[in-house]
Amino acid sequence: MQVASGGSVNTQQALAEAEKICEANAAQLTELRRAVLRLILEAPGPLTAYQLLDQLKTIRKSAVPPTVYRALDFLMENRLVHKVEQLNAFIPCSDTQHDHQDVQFLICEKCGTVAEIEDHAISHALARAAARQGFQPHKAVVELDGTCAACAAAQ
Ligand SMILES: [Zn+2]
Ligand SMILES: [Zn+2]
Repeated sequence: MQVASGGSVNTQQALAEAEKICEANAAQLTELRRAVLRLILEAPGPLTAYQLLDQLKTIRKSAVPPTVYRALDFLMENRLVHKVEQLNAFIPCSDTQHDHQDVQFLICEKCGTVAEIEDHAISHALARAAARQGFQPHKAVVELDGTCAACAAAQ
């Protein structure tokens, strides 16, 4: 499954799902973590930590950068949000059923949406290619820039 981050996501449903995931992980979705997750879910596109901080300050005046970074760490650990490295920004996980061994991101240069895909063949190919060089990767970031299906259709 492949869902673009943004307005199409049902926030209430996603928050309820997040509660369940945290419960299963014996992790606590505090009010603050929930607020940060909600902001990411409701954003039309990826948000940077500073954009999140600005928005969070409207509901929680005392918020400082570490507040946001700690909440983001928690949300990433529980696979509720992902960081898009090249944008240094965060998107909601579009499919919490992914095993997340390897996810890849498709970044639309026109509308700014980021879609998450999980294709094991890509990571296996990367692992084999690295192994041929005797290289032991611990992390792979696969982010593609281009035009999403909706923008391509609109052209
Ligand atoms: Zn995900
Ligand atoms: Zn697009």
